[in-house]
Amino acid sequence: MAHLDHFGRPINYLRISVTDRCNLRCVYCMPEDGVTWRPTEEILRFEEIQTVVRAAAEMGISKVRLTGGEPLVRLNVAELVHMLAQVPGIDDLSMTTNGILLSGSAQTLAEAGLNRVNISLDTMRPERFGRITRRGMLEDVVAGIEAALGAGLDPVKINAVVIRGMNDDEIVDFAKTTVDKGWNVRFIEWMPVGTESGLEYRWGDTVVTAEEIREQIELALGGLIPASTSAGSGPARYYRVPGASGTIGFIAPVSEHFCFHCNRLRLTADGQLRPCLLSDEEIDLRTALRQGGDVAQIKALILEAIDRKPRQHHLNECERPHKRVMSQIGG
Ligand code: SAM
Repeated sequence: MAHLDHFGRPINYLRISVTDRCNLRCVYCMPEDGVTWRPTEEILRFEEIQTVVRAAAEMGISKVRLTGGEPLVRLNVAELVHMLAQVPGIDDLSMTTNGILLSGSAQTLAEAGLNRVNISLDTMRPERFGRITRRGMLEDVVAGIEAALGAGLDPVKINAVVIRGMNDDEIVDFAKTTVDKGWNVRFIEWMPVGTESGLEYRWGDTVVTAEEIREQIELALGGLIPASTSAGSGPARYYRVPGASGTIGFIAPVSEHFCFHCNRLRLTADGQLRPCLLSDEEIDLRTALRQGGDVAQIKALILEAIDRKPRQHHLNECERPHKRVMSQIGG
């Protein structure tokens, strides 16, 4: 049974950043030169991550998502997948990736026990892809999506962050892929995290709300129909264009924050447990692990993190986390 926090929310989901490094430098996420990477010795080893997941599973956490940085740049990450898939009580093991390295690893990941992937993709135009990511090739991600589908990682979800002037003219094109290709696309509102990267975050201007995205789609493709959701629906609301096999999801962390349903904790690559994505509070698991902490001790720290989960974030009141950019937290 999942543990309830002070506000009655069952905490059953752990997101784990397996590295702070990334092979892309998306303009809204990371500075061009990258950030200062944590030294390797500060990054949790696979055995340490497994101990945390064992402890979490014993406390009723049943869903684990691997993220980063870019999880696929972590050497032998399929081995970690295999180790976590063996942990009793974990019944949903997923990954969020930029897809660049996925075509070569999807099959191995699926065989290791990964259930599904979310792939971040903000544009379907090759030249623009290079500009947004500052170094990636769109064709690699497309090959990654195909490989994930071919490997049976199901469902594959495509996550697009929409920013005015960057890619808002592709909203309808993305929505059409739910009809033409059967993709499951989720539009994510840009959050004011990591904005040191050069783009200016302006509410009512560069930020495109989920409501506005939906209006654009409905104007072009007709009214959306509420859709029942598949595995790991999380904070998104899902719809379908009439006749589409794929779904459209909206994730509106700022305009309609969904903190009242928040079920998650986050583990940073350097072993800090964050009760909330958007608050700087952290509980140090790495020190405990390296001082010989066993599953029981880690469970006590996880309980502390659950107890410290804030009721809600305060982004709407202009409060922002300062300690880390998104790639360091595991967005
Ligand atoms: N490298 C992996 C990837 O690209 O999916 C995992 C880490 S990345 C930080 C996770 C997600 O966070 C990506 O979909 C990215 O677009 C999103 N993201 C980064 N900064 C964001 C921001 N300020 N607001 C909303 N989403 C953001």
